[in-house]
Amino acid sequence: MIFRIPTDRINWTTSSFLIGTFVLTLTAVPLYLWYFGIDWFYFAVFGVMLAVTGFSVTLGYHRLFSHMTFRAVLPVRLFTLIFGAGAFENSVLMWASEHRRHHKHVDHDEDPYDISKGFFHAHIGWLLFKLQPQPPFDNVNDLKKDPLIMWQHRHIHIIAVLVSLGLPTLLGALWDGWTGALGGFLIGGVAKVVVLQHGTFLINSACHTIGRQPYSTRCSARDSFLLALFTFGEGYHNYHHEFQHDYRNGVKPWEWDPTKWLIWILSKLRLASGLRRVPAETISSAQTRVRHLRSDGGFQDAQ
Ligand SMILES: [Zn+2]
Ligand SMILES: [Zn+2]
Repeated sequence: MIFRIPTDRINWTTSSFLIGTFVLTLTAVPLYLWYFGIDWFYFAVFGVMLAVTGFSVTLGYHRLFSHMTFRAVLPVRLFTLIFGAGAFENSVLMWASEHRRHHKHVDHDEDPYDISKGFFHAHIGWLLFKLQPQPPFDNVNDLKKDPLIMWQHRHIHIIAVLVSLGLPTLLGALWDGWTGALGGFLIGGVAKVVVLQHGTFLINSACHTIGRQPYSTRCSARDSFLLALFTFGEGYHNYHHEFQHDYRNGVKPWEWDPTKWLIWILSKLRLASGLRRVPAETISSAQTRVRHLRSDGGFQDAQ
């Protein structure tokens, strides 16, 4: 323990990756742009890869595999498993196991990204330091039965490297040789991973700190339009914690939730089915309950 930092508990592999990619994005990316100039191609690769990987995490990892808010055909499941790996957020099995524990034990010690341990811990500290041993995957037995999920779990690191770093490097090389390969690697690969990961991390940190609590005051989760903008609609986190089996996070039709729109479009294309929705009466009675609590002065923070 040095300066209250638990140095003996540093997760070296994860820490080196998270800090290394962050430093590269802040140094090598601007240097590359300064030296070689701005080329729209690399920003297009960045944008497309960010969207494809991001939706694979929100639609696939989160709403499909962790919460089973809908069913999807095999090509959709395979696509999200392959491109979701590109976020470098580990396998679906690991992700869903941690996420289900987060929902079950939110704001308590067994919550892996427990906000009561501080913003930094919930954002990234829980990944940099392993304060507790990895619990067994005993809450994802349903997922263990899926051979595709187990295939992804066994090969997660190689899939992640090929999809997230290899693919943009190859696209860059095809565009402009060695210079292009470097641009594709740095902008479409490394910078995309950093932006995407901190988007995910913000849900664990900021969505438990900033925003409104219209549906429940039972836990720290909050709704934030601003955070929904950066997280493909995942910012309506208060609703999500109260009704985790609803495929929508932004439940109101006008709420910015591109992931729910994409799931709905997939259902119209017959690629998704069984979309789960909480009845409107249940939602409005939850809102009424919170309003009563507030008017009784029982909870100051709800808005
Ligand atoms: Zn969730
Ligand atoms: Zn949460």
